[in-house]
Amino acid sequence: MREPERYRYDRGVYVAAVGKCGACFLCVDECPEDAIHKMEPVKVDYNRCTRCMRCVEVCPGGIMQIID
Ligand code: SF4
Ligand code: SF4
Repeated sequence: MREPERYRYDRGVYVAAVGKCGACFLCVDECPEDAIHKMEPVKVDYNRCTRCMRCVEVCPGGIMQIID
């Protein structure tokens, strides 16, 4: 049986605790897809995100979380 089709906007990263984002922008600098907008709090463009996890690993506050 064919796998259900997944769209890129079904996969991504979201800011789990926006109130605690320190706007250090380490995640912005780390993102290879330029998917994170430099705002306070940061905003992820789900159409660009490839779930590489780099922002999750670099965030000092554990703010970035992967969602399915
Ligand atoms: S998971 Fe990767 S591609 Fe997605 S926002 Fe984070 S660093 Fe960018
Ligand atoms: S690395 Fe974490 S604390 Fe820094 S801007 Fe990104 S989400 Fe906010």
